[in-house]
Amino acid sequence: MLDYVIIGGGVVGTLIARELSKYEVSILLLEKENDIGNHATLANSAIIHSGHDPKPGSLKAQLCVRGNTMYETLAKELKIPLIFSGAFVVARDQEEVDTLDLLYQRALHNGVKEVALLDADEAQNREGNLADGVLKVLDLPTTKVTYPWEVAIAALENALLNGAQFKTNAKVTKISPVNDHFIVEINQQEEIEARYVINAAGVYADELASFVEDDLPYRITPRRGEYFVLDKKVKGFVERVLYPVPSDKGKGVLVVPQVHGNILLGPTSEFQDAKENRDNHSDHLNWIRRDSEKLAKNIPFDQIIRTFSGLRATSTYHDFYIQPAKKHPQFIHVAGIDSPGLTAAPAIAEYVVKTLLNRDQRLPKKTDFNPNRVKKKPFYESHFEEKLQLFKEDHRHGHIVCKCERVTEAEVVAAIHSPVASPTIKGIKKRVRAGSGLCQGGYCENTIVKIIARELNIPISEVDYYEKETPILWKETKVKR
Ligand SMILES: Cc1cc2nc3c(=O)[nH]c(=O)nc-3n(C[C@H](O)[C@H](O)[C@H](O)COP(=O)(O)OP(=O)(O)OC[C@H]3O[C@@H](n4cnc5c(N)ncnc54)[C@H](O)[C@@H]3O)c2cc1C
Repeated sequence: MLDYVIIGGGVVGTLIARELSKYEVSILLLEKENDIGNHATLANSAIIHSGHDPKPGSLKAQLCVRGNTMYETLAKELKIPLIFSGAFVVARDQEEVDTLDLLYQRALHNGVKEVALLDADEAQNREGNLADGVLKVLDLPTTKVTYPWEVAIAALENALLNGAQFKTNAKVTKISPVNDHFIVEINQQEEIEARYVINAAGVYADELASFVEDDLPYRITPRRGEYFVLDKKVKGFVERVLYPVPSDKGKGVLVVPQVHGNILLGPTSEFQDAKENRDNHSDHLNWIRRDSEKLAKNIPFDQIIRTFSGLRATSTYHDFYIQPAKKHPQFIHVAGIDSPGLTAAPAIAEYVVKTLLNRDQRLPKKTDFNPNRVKKKPFYESHFEEKLQLFKEDHRHGHIVCKCERVTEAEVVAAIHSPVASPTIKGIKKRVRAGSGLCQGGYCENTIVKIIARELNIPISEVDYYEKETPILWKETKVKR
């Protein structure tokens, strides 16, 4: 029997796996998709919020501020990108200025460090493309930006190094409490037994929790957010994250510099019933254009290279719901993890393990826990001599597969065979950025399909684009005679 089963391979589940791997316990993480980090963890603003926005006294406020401070160490240990961008919250009329003053008090109350109010001139001096007509700004220097799915991949890689296990294509279809443990059914076929179940299943958390809790105190009501992505040529257009003054609908449309130089514009905020629908709508995208211009002037809309959307696991509980189940306390709810869930994720993991699990029982600590992930420097970031050395070690570094991001064949092959691999077009993109540039994979995808097929010894028509059974090549249209 296993000690812990974690359901969900998003940033929350993977960081919980890593936190638990500091102890002498057996851990299995189950993910229904063919890759980890394919849901909210894939499609968000990537901001490590300061903690100025959550309601004082809420778990969101506590874990957001704590999570923000943990990212610096996390970035060093897991070698994840992190930029110390800072942020401005921008007020444009007197009503917003009044709200900004309250937000300043809220930030102080939540324990956000270095927060300050700036007048328009000071703000314009610091952020050249700030929109005209701004009256006052809340300066949040502790805001940062990361690369969200790499956080999840890195956390799981490190958890595996420390003894955890994981399974993809493993959908939990039933959970049955039996005496002092649970039987967890996977894909309606396999059964495993575990003493504890940690439910970090994002928008599906309520459906899974209803197997063990009759009177569930929350329901997940997915809230979609849509975005534009601007090409990394625009790097430096803004230095900081720009937020509007928040409203009942959330933080509003933002302008967000990304770790590789791109800029995100978005997100929108629309409730929907469906837990999978991640479409984009032209009227919502027009709304992003309009709202983002209230924050920044001269936005280079001609540099848009992509749109996408993600679903927030917003809950009717209006806070993170992180508690043991009432009747079966060895089932831990980690639910309603919408924004700022990426920021809070390391603190959520710490809270689950140290506060909830370690409260009644003393988990035995490992003496040889290794917090560090080994990550190879991308080829294009290497100096000339380093590149020569890499080429000597593996000649496939001489073949640039993705010209936009300058990714080599050796890097694609390494990603296919990495410990937390997902040999799909999107899986490779998530790991080495092939297809993330201006042409969005138009140039490299056909080569990557061939490399995956060759490495896995499968026909090219079996290489998936993203999810299971999404091949981009279907049949031969020209046959050699
Ligand atoms: C539009 C948008 C913008 C956001 N911006 C920010 C931001 O800037 N900063 C910030 O801090 N937060 C932000 N967030 C929130 C943040 O992205 C999420 O809180 C965080 O990613 C949640 O991670 P998770 O692991 O809980 O969920 P997910 O990443 O959704 O992971 C849950 C996983 O569970 C799996 N799963 C579900 N059911 C089953 C099952 N039956 N069996 C096995 N596996 C299952 C899913 O496949 C999925 O991989 C944003 C979210 C959205 C959508």
